[in-house]
Amino acid sequence: SEELSGKHVTVAGLGVSGMPAAKVLHRLGARVTAVNGGDGEGPRRQAAELEALGVGVRLGDDRTLPEGTELVVTTPGFKPSSPLFRAADEAGVPVWGDVELAWRLRGPDAAPWLAVTGTNGKTTTVQMLACILRAAGLRTAAVGNIGVSLIDVVLEQEPYAGLDVLAVELSSYQLHWAPSLRPHSGAVLNLAPDHLDWHGSMEAYAAAKGRIYEGNQVACVYNADDAQDTADTGVPRTEDLVRAADVVEGARAIGFTLGTPAPSQLGVVESVLVDRAFVADRQQQAQELAETGDITPAAPHNIANALAAAALARAFGVPPAAVRDGLRAFTPDAHRITHVAEAGGISYVDDSKATNTHAAEASLAAYESIVWIAGGLAKGATFDELVAASAPRLRGVVLMGADRQLIAEALARHAPDVPVADLERTDTGAMAEAVRRATSLARPGDTVLLAPACASMDMFVNYNARGDAFAEAVRALAAEGSSQQ
Ligand code: ADP
Repeated sequence: SEELSGKHVTVAGLGVSGMPAAKVLHRLGARVTAVNGGDGEGPRRQAAELEALGVGVRLGDDRTLPEGTELVVTTPGFKPSSPLFRAADEAGVPVWGDVELAWRLRGPDAAPWLAVTGTNGKTTTVQMLACILRAAGLRTAAVGNIGVSLIDVVLEQEPYAGLDVLAVELSSYQLHWAPSLRPHSGAVLNLAPDHLDWHGSMEAYAAAKGRIYEGNQVACVYNADDAQDTADTGVPRTEDLVRAADVVEGARAIGFTLGTPAPSQLGVVESVLVDRAFVADRQQQAQELAETGDITPAAPHNIANALAAAALARAFGVPPAAVRDGLRAFTPDAHRITHVAEAGGISYVDDSKATNTHAAEASLAAYESIVWIAGGLAKGATFDELVAASAPRLRGVVLMGADRQLIAEALARHAPDVPVADLERTDTGAMAEAVRRATSLARPGDTVLLAPACASMDMFVNYNARGDAFAEAVRALAAEGSSQQ
């Protein structure tokens, strides 16, 4: 914080992350100007709040760098290609994200970071990790992109004082702007195309994720089940990201896999990183840590999350018994493969959080015979791979939302015999009709699965509201069904 005092800092963006950043920088003695493109009612209210504290604000222009800026602290809304950063680059002014700022504000005895990123499973994994660390008697919290500002955490605001270790969720945006971050250990859970509009390309997205391995002191945890052949997809393997990273000598690479040892037992296959190169002959060291029955839900993708959490915890020295106890204590958040009801022999599952195709593919893989409710905002995604992989398990499909046509076309190509009900609706009330139509397509033993593979904002406020609407419609239908009997 010494280095911030008196410095001219421009904060890019107001909102949920810009406001606390501007306030803390001001408190640390920086001369802050917050810039924001929009100048509507919300920004004007936030500007007034900051100005009352003595923070400078400029509304209506977030493209040019205020005179005298020595440092830019940015929020996720700004793409790396934003004119503001071009201006900063030309002026030789560094750009930090909130994680970079937090990392630099850590005190000398700060709790080490066990960091997690990946396209999907981040929140689940840091929550599992926190449970495991707690089971080992450590004081910890799941923080970061999960909705807990790392700045609050490193400044030890209550309830974040005196923690032993942090389970940190990091987004690709945060990693992109965190050049000096050096976690104790880090994991990339998986990589699939997402947020490419922000990063500009798959390479840039993967490179941002790979930053989590930079300077790892103890372990780099990667997904050893990544596809071996990446030539045609252009998606690098997480193992490649470990190889590319500049890790501390002696740090280990730990791959997790569902394949080895037996899939019913959790194991960690470890390999040793010597001089930044893998030893050719991998030392295979698998240890039984827990059983799949200890994990909720016991779907394959979620077992992979548990393995990653276990690997990070083990790298921190947690004993095997705490891994099992911690995983048993873990319960997933709402809208993540949440079992809503069983009615007429059909089970109803809410995975509204499946907002991209990679997540939806994982949840579709967890059930045998499915009536799938899908659609929403595609965010530039294509659906061929998802539909082709899932076709054998589809009893039927109900489509709604703005980009449903893209899914309908993929279904016509890869699953022409699967019945599809296209609701042609984008209103909130469509969910009740979707549940009714899905129920009429389903047979006893089937699962009606809301896993939209799309963002929700065309129809709902967010994925929570979408999941709630589904659960409400299911309960109403179940109540109708039981009153008719
Ligand atoms: P994130 O924090 O990365 O968004 P979550 O833990 O909230 O991830 O899970 C989001 C959704 O992604 C889940 O509802 C599930 O559909 C899917 N998912 C979770 N873990 C994985 C995984 N390891 N691989 C693929 N999909 C996953």
